[in-house]
Amino acid sequence: MIVRNAQLALPGAAGPVLGDLSIADGKIREIVLRDPEHLRSGGDSTADTGATKHHGAADDAEILDAGGLLVFPGAIDPHVHFFDPGYTHKEDFFHGTAASASGGVTTVIDMPDTSVPPAVDAASVREKLEQVAERALIDFGFFGGISGALCDERLEQRIAEMAGEVCGIKTYETSGAAHFPRVSHYQYQQILELTRKHDCIVLVHAEDYDYVAAATPVARAGGDGGMQFYRSRPEIAETLSVFSVTEIAEQLEAQLHIVHLGTARAAEIVASRRYSSGETCPQYLEFDCHDFERIGAPLKITPPVKGPANKDVLWRMLAEGGIDFVASDHAPGTVEEKSTGSIWTDYAGIPGGPLLFRYVLSEGYLAGRLPLARLLQVCSETAARRYRLADRKGSISVGKDADLVFVDPQAESVVRGADSLSKGKVTPYEGRTLRGKVVRTVVRGKTVYTCDQGVVAEAGYGAFVRPNRSLPHWSR
Ligand SMILES: [Zn+2]
Repeated sequence: MIVRNAQLALPGAAGPVLGDLSIADGKIREIVLRDPEHLRSGGDSTADTGATKHHGAADDAEILDAGGLLVFPGAIDPHVHFFDPGYTHKEDFFHGTAASASGGVTTVIDMPDTSVPPAVDAASVREKLEQVAERALIDFGFFGGISGALCDERLEQRIAEMAGEVCGIKTYETSGAAHFPRVSHYQYQQILELTRKHDCIVLVHAEDYDYVAAATPVARAGGDGGMQFYRSRPEIAETLSVFSVTEIAEQLEAQLHIVHLGTARAAEIVASRRYSSGETCPQYLEFDCHDFERIGAPLKITPPVKGPANKDVLWRMLAEGGIDFVASDHAPGTVEEKSTGSIWTDYAGIPGGPLLFRYVLSEGYLAGRLPLARLLQVCSETAARRYRLADRKGSISVGKDADLVFVDPQAESVVRGADSLSKGKVTPYEGRTLRGKVVRTVVRGKTVYTCDQGVVAEAGYGAFVRPNRSLPHWSR
């Protein structure tokens, strides 16, 4: 494949630069810049219009004219729940990866606890891989999981066996799932000692168990609405949890990652730590507890969206590097699950996968909150580094996988749940207009999605990715 006349979003660049890409065997073979400024400093770049030699590209290469389009590195969504196998009425690997592709995502990392069986040791990781691989449209990795019930005499064996297969180990300080109980602080110490020894990363859903357990019945007695649910898990619940678990990780010098941060203070604590990274999600940048009161169940997630003062701080921290990257926490519920008649029993989760990159592109880069170089870091580069995929993924660079998203920056798109390729149709963004439109998504040099034709590759094209543990650990 040859891509011509693209406005390329290259790592570190102040703005898009006009150029061509030559792709062979799924990898970026050559980047030829047409901008005279870059030609002067670009050494062996030989391009001028029409005279480009594309080394390594076959004569019958597919040639795409990307005139007028921005070409970004494919986004990485390092936090999705595709419920496969086990709960595929909510989502499955085909619908989940197709929806992600429609939003410019080329690699997802799937959570371990929302499938049957959960992925908690080498055998169950292998079984899940065998089941879902034939349905994946884009590249995918897994997280393994450790619950409080698995902190037994086989804990080290589980961690050691999974460490090379999964991108990290997911845990919960507070868990809503009876089959996947929370991890206590003492158990975090046990787990983190072992993940340090066996060279992997622990991920934490951070809400303080004592606080949530005590606040929930009081809030529930107080009424049935978004604001009441928020009061069962407000800012302090996240902050207390983040403080404790990152303190344990600092003491042990163990790699830790806090998922779905929605609280400014909690994000500040993570940013002050040496061994802990953090992600936020579009839903925490866009919505607050007053929106939750108004919108209700379509915006119900755990942790819930927080007070309005958090949003500007989260955006600033994302722009300045205090928050490391974004993720969707994609977790659809059916219409029935999202409308049970009470906010306390409605399913907690939203189908955010197809909106992750589109939202951050629109409200971050195109709205002027994030410079281009930072957009690339938060949507692709930093997650690739954190989960040690950066030898293959995370930027438009010679030698890396040709994972690309073509965007028309002049077009707009309106979010319609009914139009989503996900099984999840209930979205809090219903009717929201976003700037920019994903027109084509390319995974390893093959187009998997176009806005005109939808999915254009076979289910099963997506490849499983493992961390390259010879790469260094991320540092801020
Ligand atoms: Zn999640």
